[in-house]
Amino acid sequence: MIPQDVIDRVPAAHDVVDVIGRAVALKRAGSSWKGCCPFHEDSTPSFDVNPERQTFKCFGCGKGGDVVTWTMERESLSFRDAVRSLAADKGVVIEVDGVASLPARVVAAPAPRRSAPPPVRPPESELAALWAACPLATEDSDVCAWLVSRGLDPESVASEVGVRAIPTGIRLPAWARGPGERGSIAWNVSGHRCAFPTYDATGRNVSVRARAVVPLADHQHKSLAPAGCAVKGLVLADVVGRQVLAGTPPDAWSGVVTVVEGEPDFLSWSTNRSTGGTLFAAVLGITSGAWTREVADRIPDATTVAIRTHADAAGQRYAAEVYATLSGRCDVRVLPGSHP
Ligand SMILES: [Zn+2]
Repeated sequence: MIPQDVIDRVPAAHDVVDVIGRAVALKRAGSSWKGCCPFHEDSTPSFDVNPERQTFKCFGCGKGGDVVTWTMERESLSFRDAVRSLAADKGVVIEVDGVASLPARVVAAPAPRRSAPPPVRPPESELAALWAACPLATEDSDVCAWLVSRGLDPESVASEVGVRAIPTGIRLPAWARGPGERGSIAWNVSGHRCAFPTYDATGRNVSVRARAVVPLADHQHKSLAPAGCAVKGLVLADVVGRQVLAGTPPDAWSGVVTVVEGEPDFLSWSTNRSTGGTLFAAVLGITSGAWTREVADRIPDATTVAIRTHADAAGQRYAAEVYATLSGRCDVRVLPGSHP
C-alpha cells in the first residue's frame, strides 16, 4: 500500500507540462499547451495540456487525466507503479510501516507499438488496369468541355498532371462507384468521368479521385474517392509536388509548395506556370481528410508554403490544418482563397 500522503504529494511534485512535454511536442495556445495526441492517429493538434489544472485531455480520442493517469497510459503501468515511478523521479520518500524507502524507478517493458492497420486502397492491379483503360483527358469531348468551362487548357492538364477520362463504355472495378438513388452507380454512368491520380506521402500513385464533368442530378458529390477506401494522407500533386514528396525535388524547384483545395484549383495552379521562368513551385491539392502529419513531414525545412484554400469554413479549416503541421519549421503563408 502506498500511503495517501504520497499519493497526494506525487502529482504536486510534477508539472504536467514538463512530464508530457518530454514525449509530445507541445505548443503554447493561450493558457494551455497543445500537441498531437500520442494515443491516436492525430494529424491536427487535438491534445490539450492545462498547467493550471495540471491535467491533459484529448478532444479526439477522449483520453485525459492528471500526471499519474498520463504515466499509467504512456508507460502501461498500474496506478501503484505509476505513483512509485513518479515518486522516484522526484526523490519522494515512501514510508511503509515506519520504514522509509526511496522507490526504485519502475521500468516497465516498453509498450507494444500500436501500429495502425494499413489504410484500405484500391488493389494495385485494378488501379493499374483503370489507368491503362482510360485515355488522356484531351481525348474525351465531355472531359475537355468541362476543363474548358473551368478556364483550363486540356493539353496542359493531360500532359502536366496526368488527368484522364473514364470512357462511358468500360466496366469499372467495384470500388469505382458512387452513391446513387438506388444503390451505387459506376463513375462513368454517374458522370464522374474525369480521373485524377492521388498520391501517398511518398509521392506514389496509390489511388484516384473521379470528378463529375456533366451536370449532376444532385450536386452533393462533385468529386468521389474509391468506395470503401481511405482518403487520409492522399493528395493531388503535380510533377514537382510528387518529386518533393518522394524526397527528390528537381533542381528547378523554387523551394515553394503551393497547397490548394479541390480539383479545379489544383489544375489551374498546376498548369499556370509562367513560361518565361525556370523555377517551379510544387503544387499539392487537398480535399477533406487528405492532409496528414506524414504528408507535412515530407516537406523540407525552410520551404515556403503558400496555402490557398477556399474562402469558406471548410477552406479555413483545411488552411488551419496545414498551417499547424508546418508552422515553426517552414515559412507558411495563408493567402486569400479563391471562391468555392
Ligand atoms: Zn487522442
